[in-house]
Amino acid sequence: AAGTAHEDADGDPEVNLDFHVPHSARMYDYFLGGTTNFPADREAAGRALAVFPYARTAARANRGFMRRSVRHLAESGIRQFIDIGTGIPTSPNLHEVAQQIDPRARVVYADNDPIVLIHAEALLKGAPEGVTAYVQADVTQPEAILEAARKHLDFSQPIALSLNAVLHFVPEGAHKITDVFKSALPSGSALAVSHLTAEFAPEETSRLTQVYTAAGTPTRARDRNEFARFFDGWSLVDPGIVPTPRWRPDGSSADEPVTDAEASCYAAVAIRP
Ligand code: SAH
Repeated sequence: AAGTAHEDADGDPEVNLDFHVPHSARMYDYFLGGTTNFPADREAAGRALAVFPYARTAARANRGFMRRSVRHLAESGIRQFIDIGTGIPTSPNLHEVAQQIDPRARVVYADNDPIVLIHAEALLKGAPEGVTAYVQADVTQPEAILEAARKHLDFSQPIALSLNAVLHFVPEGAHKITDVFKSALPSGSALAVSHLTAEFAPEETSRLTQVYTAAGTPTRARDRNEFARFFDGWSLVDPGIVPTPRWRPDGSSADEPVTDAEASCYAAVAIRP
């Protein structure tokens, strides 16, 4: 079915917002200059900026990786996308990048923050030729997300799975979860991941993870080896594992010069053989 759909993993609409508790999606929205955030989010974001002053730059660099990786995969012929931890919509969204290459591209978004569900309805309006679906679900429940995605995507054809800036919010078991997704995707599928690392700004990043964890979102930076393990068995696309701004920079005016410390996130894309 073409068009726009939203549901939680059980098929029921489910909205339960708590504006008094900071949420990572709203803090990230604040770093990107968005307006979908509340005092508790801005206070926590302020504490994050105090210890990790690059948060805004890192968030923009991360969006740049999303844009370039999706364009690359769409240009390589992939027409189906799953994006987990999609975030509060911010232009361009993943479906806009993919559907610019081919309006028939089908995109399933998932996030566990109910505020993303509310904005998904308003903003995730895709090309009529394609599909833009939204599932409220937790990345730690891969089977539920896959079940929902099967309603919209053809699992006999390649699918690109994006896990951008979300696995660092899964301190334990992130590799096992990623493996469940990987084993469900057919040959020719892609995995795109960006992830916080403490390797370029160890002090600041360690304080950042403490601020997030204290704000109720347990967060874990991973080193290059731990990051590389997400892609085990799949073939890394050139240039391999690099800080987000170094993944196939395309000279876009949206991308500014960013140091590795400012980015503090690894990025990579791999293809299932
Ligand atoms: N992927 C987007 C947004 C990253 S912000 C980007 O790279 O630009 C991180 C997002 O992950 C937030 O929207 C947050 O709500 C979501 N998130 C955090 N933990 C999650 C979990 N356990 N399951 C699903 N989504 C999660």
